[in-house]
Amino acid sequence: MQLKVPFLDLRSHNAPMLDEIKSAIGEVIDSASFAGGSFVASFEADFGAYCGNSYAIGVGSGTEALWLALLGLGVGPGDDVITVPNSFIATAEAITYSGARPVFVDVDERTYTMNPAALAEVLTARTKAIIPVHLFGQPADMDPILQFAREHGLFVVEDACQAHGAEYKARKVGTLGDAGCFSFYPGKNLGAFGEAGAVVTKNAELQEKIRTLRDHGQIRKYYHSVIGWNCRMDGIQAAVLRIKLRHLERGNRLRRSHAAHYDRALEGLEEIVTPVELPCVRHVYHIYAIRLADRDEVIRLLSEKGVGCGVHYPVPIHLQEAYRNLGYEPASFPVAERCATEFVSLPMFPELTPVQLELVGQAVKQAVTRCLVLK
Ligand SMILES: *Cc1c(COP(=O)(O)O)cnc(C)c1O
Repeated sequence: MQLKVPFLDLRSHNAPMLDEIKSAIGEVIDSASFAGGSFVASFEADFGAYCGNSYAIGVGSGTEALWLALLGLGVGPGDDVITVPNSFIATAEAITYSGARPVFVDVDERTYTMNPAALAEVLTARTKAIIPVHLFGQPADMDPILQFAREHGLFVVEDACQAHGAEYKARKVGTLGDAGCFSFYPGKNLGAFGEAGAVVTKNAELQEKIRTLRDHGQIRKYYHSVIGWNCRMDGIQAAVLRIKLRHLERGNRLRRSHAAHYDRALEGLEEIVTPVELPCVRHVYHIYAIRLADRDEVIRLLSEKGVGCGVHYPVPIHLQEAYRNLGYEPASFPVAERCATEFVSLPMFPELTPVQLELVGQAVKQAVTRCLVLK
């Protein structure tokens, strides 16, 4: 069945930019600048400028961005890196692949981002860095996190993979810590036509290290100063992203307005918890997630009505089979674990129409009311 409101419609999102994008891809083909090269450099300049005059280093994915940021900072075996369990697994994988150990803290009940008050409980002599995640496009509460990091000599790497253009106290996320990591996976607020990512930083020495690491540790062709890896960004992705970057702000504004529409439509429904935007942040709603008790039944009713939903994420990282070796038990992180059972992500992309938004609001209300009647 064709959904009336898909969870995400990338074709309608890309449609208005397609002529520009095709011509940009044509330029890459004509110049044969496929791996790294001038198109990547141009995108890096644009994205760095967008992120408040930072350096930007284009890489192959958000996962690589996180991994290289940690390597560039010297995080490795014997170190602990503190992060949150309610993220995409890549946040923890990057820590593991740096050689360090992921250590989790619970999240704030209203914002679903790192609870700064929990950091002190897990701090040890091994702790080397903190990775707050700007989950769903909502900036983590950075000031207390940065202060804690300063007091204890820790690095802060922001996982901004869902938060392109989000702001904390009028500053772009990704520029607040030592490094910020972005994913340009196609479904993200700024998405490539394939896989891509970037690290941003204001630290010249760090950007040089990451630049070297992403290109086999080369300082010049075939002269390798360190052991790196191939994490270069594709020329075609850079050319696509350069065009799409110009449309990011408009997209984020539309997402915010759609979120406000959902907020109004669902206001007063006691069974639903809608997202909270703190006064000092600009949320960019990569995902609009509500919380409710009867999730499975509501999702089923919504799909009957032609509304696509998602669940981000059904199993927190500390309870994933892959991370059994870390030894965490259920009930370690009550907020993150409750969120994992209650979250439902509603359709969210800039091109949602007023009719579609209305339909989703009505469908959610009806589904929740019906669940109540059935109980
Ligand atoms: C998407 C995402 C990543 C990984 O990015 P990729 O480009 O898919 O490798 C990391 N962290 C979070 C929070 C993400 O949403």
